Amino acid sequence: MSDIKFIDDVEIEGKTILLRADFNVSMNPNYLTIADDARIRQVIPTINYLLKRNNKLILASHLGRPKGERVPKFSLQIVCNQLKEYLPEYNIILIDDFLTEPESTFKNQKADDIFVYENTRFYPGEKKNDPKFAKKMAVHADIFVNDAFGVSHRADASVVGVAHILPSYGGLLLKKETEMLSMVLKKPEKPFVAVIGGAKIETKIKVLDRMMELADSLIIGGALANTFLYAQGIDVGASLFEKDKTDLAQKLLFKAAQNNTTVILPSDCVVGNAQELEHGGMVCKVSEVPKDKQILDIGPETTARIGSIIAKAKTIVWNGPVGYFENIHYRQGTDFMYYAITNNDDAVSIVGGGDTLAAISKKEYLDKLTHISTGGGAMLEYIEKGTLPGIEALKK
Ligand code: ADP
Ligand code: MG
Repeated sequence: MSDIKFIDDVEIEGKTILLRADFNVSMNPNYLTIADDARIRQVIPTINYLLKRNNKLILASHLGRPKGERVPKFSLQIVCNQLKEYLPEYNIILIDDFLTEPESTFKNQKADDIFVYENTRFYPGEKKNDPKFAKKMAVHADIFVNDAFGVSHRADASVVGVAHILPSYGGLLLKKETEMLSMVLKKPEKPFVAVIGGAKIETKIKVLDRMMELADSLIIGGALANTFLYAQGIDVGASLFEKDKTDLAQKLLFKAAQNNTTVILPSDCVVGNAQELEHGGMVCKVSEVPKDKQILDIGPETTARIGSIIAKAKTIVWNGPVGYFENIHYRQGTDFMYYAITNNDDAVSIVGGGDTLAAISKKEYLDKLTHISTGGGAMLEYIEKGTLPGIEALKK
């Protein structure tokens, strides 16, 4: 099997291209405005690259989880409006239903028209990777380009199905994402420090497991850490933790010891009540968490310890907030993590994860991070397996 080809490895000119982008942007609660358009912004270089070579574009993406039905708040119209900001010279035209759109629309596409297929997940065939549906999506294009790293862990029709029908290539963002992650996975400069936080072990087991092999130090924070503390016999009070994952946590710690990976768990924490907004929490040792309180952030002793490890790192991967950052009283640990990483000018740093990006997206110094991954689940799966179904589908 050969490797995949990216659009700058070949000459693509004067074609009609179906470009799968990941426009699954985070929205404000009213669904009327975009909270963070990083995912749109990051695909613009690929769009411009293809347009410059006289190609016509049909863009496809999902937004949210409409589960095969037309849910108006998940319409890509809002994405079209934002695309217009970045591509003011083009007409961004939403194709409301490409299954019924007359052939003439596609025949008459002008050089300055960019078509955008309405949310691919409005169609039941998308998640089922229905070949007939994929065929209809592909029929108006000569070439398929996948630039949707964030969804390439899903074998959906618009990611995998169409790649089996048309000559297919990776876009510039897909290239950047995979190059960055491969560099870290194949020959990371040492010390390699991984910071894994978040809520559920289930979603992080595989990346934890892989990091036990790869990293020199593995910092575990968030509710995830509670399960590890509990597995070591510590009473975590009313904290969120997973009792049934105790064995797993012990096995992971054993694996770390076998691989000479230092695991850093919190030694102190901020405890309180997640829903309480008026008052902040209280600092205590992890061995002294009151029965009725929850661990909601890492404490100052822990942050100091982590700070010095991050300061010496040459490679850093961060996924998952280390505290309940949605409540302002418990976001200090996560903020500290961000500042520690952006203050290390010598390290290659890669940050990813939906909530992680939400926690840092409005900050200064974002450009001090080497790479901000547009993938959450996709990044984790890529770290684990070194490839993704959407990438495999481009290999021919
Ligand atoms: P990402 O989307 O970046 O991969 P996750 O989805 O794994 O991150 O985890 C983010 C969630 O974890 C956030 O909602 C955050 O509030 C929660 N979390 C982190 N630490 C704690 C904690 N100590 N107690 C409860 N929830 C926590
Ligand atoms: Mg998340």
